[in-house]
Parts: sequence; C-alpha cells; structure tokens
Amino acid sequence: MTHAYASSAGLTDPGLTRSQNEDGLLVEPPLYAVADGMGGHRAGEIASRDALVALFENAPRQADGNALGRAIRAANRAVIESAAKSRTRTGMGTTLTAAMVDGTRILVAHVGDSRAYLLHAGELTRITEDHSMVADLVRRGTITEEDARFHPQRSVITRALGSDPDMAADLFEVTATAGDRMLLATDGLTSMIPDDYIAEILAQERDPAEAAAKLIEAANRAGGYDNITVVIVDIDDTRASGLAPARGSRAAGRIKAARMLWVVAALALVLLTGWGTYSYAYSRAYLIAEGGYVSVYRGVPGTFAGVGLSWLERKTAIPVDRLTVPLQERLQAGIPFSKLSDATDRVTALQAESAAAASSTVSPSATSTPPPAP
Ligand code: MN
Repeated sequence: MTHAYASSAGLTDPGLTRSQNEDGLLVEPPLYAVADGMGGHRAGEIASRDALVALFENAPRQADGNALGRAIRAANRAVIESAAKSRTRTGMGTTLTAAMVDGTRILVAHVGDSRAYLLHAGELTRITEDHSMVADLVRRGTITEEDARFHPQRSVITRALGSDPDMAADLFEVTATAGDRMLLATDGLTSMIPDDYIAEILAQERDPAEAAAKLIEAANRAGGYDNITVVIVDIDDTRASGLAPARGSRAAGRIKAARMLWVVAALALVLLTGWGTYSYAYSRAYLIAEGGYVSVYRGVPGTFAGVGLSWLERKTAIPVDRLTVPLQERLQAGIPFSKLSDATDRVTALQAESAAAASSTVSPSATSTPPPAP
C-alpha cells in the first residue's frame, strides 16, 4: 500500500509449525504496530488483537509522545480487563511495539520482545531493547547475540501488556533520515534469521510489500517455528498528512518546546523504565535453600510484577540443616541483600558457622562427613 508521505506494508504469517496466528499488526498511518500474543486456548490471539484495537482507538492523531504513552496504558488496561472476562484467558498477555511516524521523526513505544529497527545507508540498527531474559544475559555479556537466538529460554519475556496495571512501556523518539526504512517485527522473524540477513533483504528489495514477503519467506525457510509478523515503513521528510499544521511563530515555538520536553521526558523514562527494573534486579542478590544446600542468586527472590527476576550465581556446599532454625526458615523464603558482595560475605560467614556446627555436633553416627580439624 502506498501513502502520500510514506510507503508502508505489513504482513503476518502463522509460520510452519503453529496452527494459529497469535500475532497481530496495525498499519494505520501515521500509526504502525506489531503485537505477539501469548496464552492458551487462543487467548494469545485475543490479547494481541485487544491491545492493537485499544491502541488504535486511543492513539493521538498526531505524533504526540505523551498521548502515545496514554494509548499504550489504555491498551494494557484493555488486555487486563479482557483477561478477567474468562477463565481461559487467565494469564494472557502480549508484546506491543508501536511507532508513530511524522516525516523523519519517529515516536516509539515498546513492551516485550518484538522489535523496531531502522535501516540507514544499508546498515540496520535495532532501536528497541528486548524485555526478555536472554536480552538481559546478552547485555551482561553472559551469552552472545547468536546464543540468544537459540537459547531454550529465548521466548521468556520480562515485560508484557496484560498483567501489571502499572506496567511502563519504553517510550522514546528517534530522528531518522529521508530514505531510511523502519521495520517492526515479532520474534518469529528475529529469532529465525540474523539481523545481517534482515538488513540484506530490506536493502535489496525496494518495494515494502515485496520486502515484507521476502522476510517472511526467509523466516519460514529457516524453520518458521513461530508466527511471523513484519511492518515496513519507508521514511521520507514529508510531514504526516494527519498532522495539523502549526500556524504562526507562537504555535511553532510551543510545539518545539513541547517536543524538547518530550525528548527529555523520554530519556528519563528510558533510563527509569528501560533498564530500571532490570539493573535494579541485577544489582541485588539473595541466598536461598535449594536441595538442602545454600544457593547464591543474583536478582530478587519470588516474582516481581508477575515475573521472576533471578539468576543463579552459584550453589554452595553449605548444608542448610547445619544452620540455626531461624536462619533455615529465612533461607526457605530467600534472604535478600542489596548487592552480590554482601551475599557472598554472608556465605563466607555461613561456611564458618556450618563448619563450627559440624565440629560441635559431630557424633559417632555422623562419620560420613568428618569435621575439619579444629
Ligand atoms: Mn512470537
């Protein structure tokens, strides 16, 4: 499809192994979005659809960041309310990656592991950060980008619409150049083929609809393990027709000021929400009883906004039953620390305690583990 200011195309495909397509897309210039729903009994399909409908209904007519943020929150509420309507929808959720394009200015709102990319001079840049467990591991340098594509837990996402009423989306603005190409895609594309290959197809195929078809074909050739959805938008410097023209210098000045405020607010939001939860979790640590021994984890015990945020650091050889009963009880739930070094200091202390306990309570029947020499 061709528009006066940009040419765009969207395409979705169930892939080769799934019987249903739980992805959804929106191509309503200047608004574009992809959503990847999850949940049993077709609930994923409902979640992505509800989110996109609510986004469309609540989206501003112009590329306004604050208003787009409000529309995302409305989409989140819509999925939560829809989930409450039926038992089969319990736990359903969806990713949502949306963009409003105004000439070369692109507002992006994003939750989950679908992605937005920008192709500039043949080079593809990912402009969203995945909210997923493997993305966190990549950011920490634990695994590579390539490992992430094949990781067994690659589909575990750490933020989605549909569970937390206070969920915060990443919101930011990108300035593109005329001639750039924006891609929105679900993980059915990005987990199947590497970014280099995506870049090659986007750079070679001029027609957006053809390029979309080729991307889907490539993902299916690579296995098509998931639903695949792509939206391609060719960026030019013509202002979006849906936008009201600014009249007079005062209006222009006001718009400029508002825009600058928005950029500042967006930067702050990205800092606070994009990495906030995760860097917070990573910076923390806890000890917990596991299989009768003390384990050290990074992160926070239990779940946070419905999602587990913890990573095993190491299992120790400290038997829980050699510790005091109150300590044993606390270890069942997990003892949190504000940083990993505090947790490891505690482990050192516990090692000494358990060794002391072993030497003081040693009895002839406990000969299998001789106590260390005093
Ligand atoms: Mn998917």
